[in-house]
Amino acid sequence: MSKKLRILVVEDESAIRDGLVDVFVFHGYDVDSTGDGTDGLTKALTGRYDLIVLDIMLPGMDGYAICNEIRQVDRTQPIIMLTARTSDEDIIQGLKLGADDYVAKPFSVAQLVLRVAAVLRRSRTGIAQEQIIALGGGIEIDTANLAGRRGDETLAFTRREMDILEYLYANRERPVSRDELLNKVWGYARDSGIETRTVDIHIAKLRRKIEVEPGTPANLITVRGAGYRLRSDG
Ligand code: CA
Repeated sequence: MSKKLRILVVEDESAIRDGLVDVFVFHGYDVDSTGDGTDGLTKALTGRYDLIVLDIMLPGMDGYAICNEIRQVDRTQPIIMLTARTSDEDIIQGLKLGADDYVAKPFSVAQLVLRVAAVLRRSRTGIAQEQIIALGGGIEIDTANLAGRRGDETLAFTRREMDILEYLYANRERPVSRDELLNKVWGYARDSGIETRTVDIHIAKLRRKIEVEPGTPANLITVRGAGYRLRSDG
């Protein structure tokens, strides 16, 4: 019998928190929850969760700070942030701090459950893969360990960044559009302005790691009107 996947819900609005717990339990997950930010961080760092659903505005400690603290010690922990629908800044800040995905409030439960399943599926299938990707400029990426080297420098990647790299590498003969990345890597059924920007933020983060000159990319190139293409030496 397979072990249930564990989800931590950090949300201070009790109606939302209780609703999320019920929905996740209904879908077969083992669920833990708290309404306090400080308690949420303690649980996140000491418990073993397959996924953390993290609100931003919380008493004690906000979601950004929690996400940041988690990423200092664990860059692979899957995290989905709950954001206000109207606030692009929330979303961008959350993604910069290393959240894997976000769901805008008010959210549809069905959509959230799909996003959760998509994040969990990728974080688990990623473990089985093993591959070294060689890029121009002497950059090597160890996909299994979310690590890499650029000369003497050690590179660290998030699970999401590696998912993007792996997808681009598997399709390196052609440019991949933002919509395709959103669909294949994030599991979105359709795009929106905000979600397209999600891709661009991650591409910018990747370029700072896998380019010798991030301003003039040689490995992860933009193909005008078509998307992004990874040029591999391997
Ligand atoms: Ca809140």
